[in-house]
Amino acid sequence: ATPMSIMTATGRGAQAGVLVKTAEALERLASVDTIVVDKTGTLTEGRPIVSDVLTADGVNENTVLQLAGALEKGSEHPLAEAILDAIAHRDIDLPDAREFQAMTGKGVTASVMGESVVFGNAAFAQEAGADLSELQERAEELAHLGKTAMYLVRGKGDKAALLGVIAVADPVKPNAKAAIGALHKDNIRIVMATGDAPRTAEAVAKTLGIDDVRAGVLPEGKQKLIEELKAAGHIVAMAGDGVNDAPALAAADVGLAMGTGADVAVESAGLTLLKGDLEGILRARNLARETVRNIR
Ligand code: ADP
Ligand code: MG
Repeated sequence: ATPMSIMTATGRGAQAGVLVKTAEALERLASVDTIVVDKTGTLTEGRPIVSDVLTADGVNENTVLQLAGALEKGSEHPLAEAILDAIAHRDIDLPDAREFQAMTGKGVTASVMGESVVFGNAAFAQEAGADLSELQERAEELAHLGKTAMYLVRGKGDKAALLGVIAVADPVKPNAKAAIGALHKDNIRIVMATGDAPRTAEAVAKTLGIDDVRAGVLPEGKQKLIEELKAAGHIVAMAGDGVNDAPALAAADVGLAMGTGADVAVESAGLTLLKGDLEGILRARNLARETVRNIR
């Protein structure tokens, strides 16, 4: 088919709520059979709110928030924002954190008041040497409700102690279920890929009617998944919003960035869904089909 002019593609895309960087990306969307979708910020609002604070025996709730907050001051992750928001509503002073490190897809660590502190997913807390059993069952229950549970550990190795768990809730976008349903009806396979824990990911997937879930996936893992699907002969789109989605957005046949997401995600994608509206995928796909038909 003759390529659609970029002028036409841009104008029509804008009407459909889609920012078109290349006309090829829009045209290719007509033949996509698989869409890999990130969870946080793509299927969900991406504005998590602290919903629960669990404390280990003898530990004060404010201590848990204070230490987690000291670490998250250095992070730009949406989860960090949720923690700092919760602290802003209470009278809590944040101590200084030294030797801060953010571990992509795992959590954050620093030295606070002379002690090593770790805050992140269960695997990351266990790597620090902590026994999570005191709170793990309750944390898993929260995950079962679709909440993200983060573990706070103070001390290293033999001295590592679990102090508490902070859970955040991040509601799904109002039209996410309808968009997924319509894409399924259009015979598109939907795969959710997220760095979040399996329980949380599965709970959100179930709400939306998604049956293919890959949890605990690091950024390179998302890119690898795209490459594997392509190698298996699929025409693959990736929808994502985060810095951690950029490699996968670039690797996909069609990258779909959320307009509400990180700049690097938008730069890596051929199409951007304005306001992060997933139904824009359907409108853009109809547009792509019409255009391909008109040219022929
Ligand atoms: P997603 O793919 O859903 O956007 P990420 O890959 O960014 O998720 O993060 C995966 C997991 O790593 C989170 O669910 C959380 O448990 C942990 N994590 C990442 N960053 C942080 C942080 N700044 N503070 C605490 N935990 C974090
Ligand atoms: Mg995301």
